[in-house]
Amino acid sequence: MRALIALLPGDGIGPEVTAQAARVLTAVGELYGHSFALREAPVGGIAIDQTGDPLPAETVALCQAADAVLLGAVGGPRWGPSSPVRPEQGLLGLRRALAVFANLRPAVPHPRVAAASPLKPAVLRGVDVLIVRELTGGIYFGEKRREADWAEDLCLYTEEEIARVVRVAARLAQSRRGRLTSVDKANVLETSRLWREVTTRVVREEFKGIELEHQLVDSCALRLVQQPAAFDVIVTENLFGDILTDLTAVLGGSIGMLPSASLGEEGGPGLYEPVHGSAPDIAGRGLANPYGAIGSVALLLRHSLHLEVEAAAVEAAIAAALESGALTSDVADRDDRACSTGEIGDAVVRALSLHKETR
Ligand code: NAD
Repeated sequence: MRALIALLPGDGIGPEVTAQAARVLTAVGELYGHSFALREAPVGGIAIDQTGDPLPAETVALCQAADAVLLGAVGGPRWGPSSPVRPEQGLLGLRRALAVFANLRPAVPHPRVAAASPLKPAVLRGVDVLIVRELTGGIYFGEKRREADWAEDLCLYTEEEIARVVRVAARLAQSRRGRLTSVDKANVLETSRLWREVTTRVVREEFKGIELEHQLVDSCALRLVQQPAAFDVIVTENLFGDILTDLTAVLGGSIGMLPSASLGEEGGPGLYEPVHGSAPDIAGRGLANPYGAIGSVALLLRHSLHLEVEAAAVEAAIAAALESGALTSDVADRDDRACSTGEIGDAVVRALSLHKETR
């Protein structure tokens, strides 16, 4: 297969983790006979420095022409709240330009990093949860007003906005354990009552084998901490998804472990990035955990290039590297020698070659 991948390293630790992710993607191409062309472009703070714009038109054009986009992270203290243009505007603009409305965040904690999580290992056993968050609607994008002593944010959802993200989540549930939990606040919010109605209808009419349950967001938060293994796929609106996906970061031991994918309509380029930010406190020191960025490569292979064997191979290589003790300081035990960002990349590429040889 030939594929064009837009590589947007961004700011802080973004370039460090995407360098390792790009190595793994190139190694997959070499081992499995694909030609992946990786083309780099600026986004975020570095794009502001170079062009004055956090999302230059050339970057948008490259991303729209690509088969998939692999991003690091944006932001940093140099472009703080008083800055006239902010790096985060680049990321929001990119999501809009690519029309990616479904954000997928899987959390499958590996036993080797269980000790880094504040949850007990017994609670983490068997956890394999995928949150699908609606990404382009709801209160974050509704009309905003501010007067002298009051403010308001409008939360608006249309039936179609709900139906399309529920279809993505239900399809994913079909390819997993067949269970879908829809999260809302239908006891209080009208948008949630619409969400519940549309979800029930879409699943009943289009996804016969799926077991659907509805759960209120507050009790879902509690259950995610008490019994995370009870979930398969969770689908929810933008604000609830934002909060619940950060909660699942504790399941993985460190925010550096978690990958994500943002998908739009079938055929458009997906956007793949680790969940973490630019971590200015550790940038440039080789301390950044690249597993979230490398895991995003597996999602890119699966969802944009439809290369399931290769995606599973990257996931197996990540698991093998973790088992061999390749851990950065954010997840290493006191007894472990912490590895650098580059050493993690070495370990995953080595495990990938071994995996291919033994198949
Ligand atoms: P952050 O995720 O960058 O960092 C939070 C904490 O986690 C820090 O202590 C950091 O050192 C640690 N951490 C994060 N990623 C890590 C990794 N891969 N390996 C090891 N440790 C890691 O969040 P923040 O500090 O709130 O934000 C820093 C900047 O990143 C801000 O400018 C923010 O706006 C931006 N941000 C960007 C994105 C994105 O690009 N998607 C997401 C969140 C925050």
